[in-house]
Amino acid sequence: MSKDPVCGMQIGEASAPARSEYEGKTYYFCSPACKTVFDGNPDKYAVK
Ligand SMILES: [Zn+2]
Repeated sequence: MSKDPVCGMQIGEASAPARSEYEGKTYYFCSPACKTVFDGNPDKYAVK
């Protein structure tokens, strides 16, 4: 399981509707809408 960094929902990586790579890490999202938010401001949501 992985955590959607935008809304905090737990996401199964194999079934994630959307994903994005940022600074070498892959992030999983519950929906394309959350991916869009992340991609618009990844520094706000990425795990440091
Ligand atoms: Zn989400």
